[in-house]
Parts: sequence; structure tokens; C-alpha cells
Amino acid sequence: MEYRRLGRSGLKMSALSLGSWITFGNQISAKTAEALMATAYDAGVNFFDNAEIYAHGRSEKVMGRILKRMKWDRTSYLLSSKAFFGDGRTKPNQTGLSRKHLTEACHDALRRLQTDYLDLYFCHRPDKEVPMEEVVWTMNILIRQGKILYWGTSEWSAQEIMEAHMVARENHLIGPVVEQPQYNLFVRRKVEVEFAQIYKTVGLGTTIWSPLASGLLTTKYLQKRPPKGARLTRAELEWLKERVLHEEALAKVALLKELADGLGISVPRLAIAWVLKNPNVSTAILGASKVRQLKENLKAPDDVALLTDDVMEQIETIVDNKPVPPLF
Ligand code: NDP
Repeated sequence: MEYRRLGRSGLKMSALSLGSWITFGNQISAKTAEALMATAYDAGVNFFDNAEIYAHGRSEKVMGRILKRMKWDRTSYLLSSKAFFGDGRTKPNQTGLSRKHLTEACHDALRRLQTDYLDLYFCHRPDKEVPMEEVVWTMNILIRQGKILYWGTSEWSAQEIMEAHMVARENHLIGPVVEQPQYNLFVRRKVEVEFAQIYKTVGLGTTIWSPLASGLLTTKYLQKRPPKGARLTRAELEWLKERVLHEEALAKVALLKELADGLGISVPRLAIAWVLKNPNVSTAILGASKVRQLKENLKAPDDVALLTDDVMEQIETIVDNKPVPPLF
């Protein structure tokens, strides 16, 4: 496994990590979740991603029980949680980024994950109803209390991230070291254009979500009947299917398959290797509902070498969506 520095911070993360959205405490059994974590850990994965909203807290509970059983050295892996959406409770202050919710959500995550501290704690979305000072101070208080080690954002704009850094600098506090954006062959602008400057200025690290666009970047949706239970066939995820699964995208996946076949690898391996090829990616968070999917995807770091300039150009021609920076 390759390890990358999280931006300019001192933290080293495995290039591939494992997340629990939709799967843990929901789509898959606790037994499968355990097999996934063991497979990942044995392959050198050192980061497990979670959030209060995932299965309304059940995902963190499942992960916490597995970690307790596994008895892995706590210093050998990184754990995260994210706050904003709440864990299913929706009264005022049970969601958002107020000092009250960020603090209580942190305590809840620690309890559910059965751990003393989170390595990474994310603001899952920006919150326009909370002053930036309140967010930055709260994260720094949690750091001083030893409850979290690093803090970051998810799906914040470059401007919001810079505002947090400005507040941090004015108050001699620690700013966000990491952003968690979506990044894959179909969603590129934030990672490739919007953040281009702040990788250099504040040394932002990135933990990438949905590297396979929720499974679209596999061949399963090219079939007339995708496998039963696959994410984009699930009734409760109709909203996600509407967002992701389009004819035009599928036509591109079919062409990517031809290219991947020629390289002797699968479409998911090609797609994940493509994400890793970007040096501003600290880690790509994998999702998997089956151990065999994870085993396949874990081969991707070795495939990066196959992505020569010529292959990258062919990919570019197929996806035809390179984001262009503004001229002025
Ligand atoms: P992906 O885009 O990689 O999708 C993963 C899903 O694709 C799997 O659960 C599986 O679904 C399918 N799949 C994966 N590999 C294969 C394969 N080799 N062959 C066939 N199907 C495959 O990642 P996720 O969308 O799951 O995101 C990864 C993580 O990122 C999450 O767990 C979470 O931790 C984080 N995340 C963060 C967000 C944020 O807002 N910060 C938002 C979303 C995710 P199935 O078998 O059901 O079809």
C-alpha cells in the first residue's frame, strides 16, 4: 500500500481507505462489514471513514464493535466522523455546525465508535447559520481536549475553506487540513479547478468520496438487468439513481470498458487508478458491499503505472468533461 501525506499535515494516510456510507448498519450484515474491514486492514488500509448520519448512527456502532473485537493497535489506524446532518434526531441544535451540535455529535461518535479520540473530524457541509468563528473555535477546543486530532470540511467551497483559515490565522488557531469532496471520472471541477490554488497556499489534503460514482463506474449498469440489490437499483435510493445513472454516462462507461479490457484491468480499477493519479488526492475512500469488490478495487494502486500520457488522453477523449479554469 502506498501512503500519502494528508496535505501539508504530518498525517500519513493509505492511498485507499474504506468508508461505510449506505453499507454499514444498513445494506450489509455486520459479518460482511467485519470481513471488509479485515480485508482492508490486511491490505494496508489505515483509514476508516464514518459520519453521524450514516444509518443514523448505526454505521458507527457497527464499526465500533468490529474495532473492539479486532483489537488492532489504535495507533495503526485512523478513524473519522462527520457532523452536520444529525443522526436522525431533527430538533433545533441536533443538526448543523453550532458549538453545541459539533461538541455533542463528537461525544456521540466517540461513544458509538468506542474510542477516546477521532483522528479526523469533518464539518459534513457548510452551515450558513453559524459564524465561522464558532466553528473554528469549537474544532480547536475539541483538539485541545484531545477528542479530535485534525479537522476538516466536506463539500465546502474554496472560499469557505479560506474563510476558515483566515479566522484561524487571526486567532492563532488551527485551520482545516482536509476537505472531503466527491471526485471521479464524472465529477471533477472542485478537485481539479476550484481547489487548485489552496493545495499550494494552505496545503489542503483531500479524502475523496465516491471514486466509482456509486458503482456507475463498473460494468453492472451496462447489463439489461443489473444485479439485484446493487446500489442504484435500491428503491430507497431512487434519488441517487436519478442523479447518477444517465444514458450518456453509460455510453462513456462502455467505451471505458473497451479501454480497460485493452489494459487487462476492470473498469473500477481503471477509474480508481485515475483518481489516484492526481497528486492532490490524499486518499480515495472505497465503498464496497462485497469482499470480492473490495479485493478487486484494492489492486488499483498498482494500475496507476498503466495510465501513461497516451492512456490518459484516451480517457479524456472518452469522458470529454475536462473542467476548464476561468481565463481571468
Ligand atoms: P463508490 O463510488 O466507490 O461506490 C461504492 C459502491 O459501488 C459499492 O458499495 C458497491 O455498491 C459498488 N462497487 C464497488 N466496487 C465494485 C466493484 N468492483 N464491482 C461492482 N460494484 C462495485 O464509493 P461510495 O459512494 O460508497 O463512497 C465511498 C465512501 O466515501 C463512503 O463510504 C463514505 O465514507 C464517503 N462518502 C462521503 C460523502 C460526503 O459527503 N463526505 C458522500 C458519500 C460518500 P453495490 O454493490 O451496492 O452496487
